[in-house]
Amino acid sequence: MSNSEKCLNPKCDNPTKVRGVCWTCYNHMQRLVTTGQTTWDKLEESGVCLPRQRQNHTAAREWIDAIAGVTEKKRKTHAKAKAAGKKEN
Ligand SMILES: [Zn+2]
Repeated sequence: MSNSEKCLNPKCDNPTKVRGVCWTCYNHMQRLVTTGQTTWDKLEESGVCLPRQRQNHTAAREWIDAIAGVTEKKRKTHAKAKAAGKKEN
């Protein structure tokens, strides 16, 4: 199968951007997760998306943080606030 570059959604021909799906499908899933209709875990289990590539994202974030001058402390505060009740993507 050569669907590694195409959205996991069989009815969608867009290229994969994140979690194995395109931005359009990802945004829709994110809306469902944000509104509490499902979770990323459930979506991953049912195979409609792939686990987030955390390592890549971490590296990417660190690079941006370094350039933006974001300190470790600031980032932890932000992560804490996020964990305290905000959405998880
Ligand atoms: Zn798609």
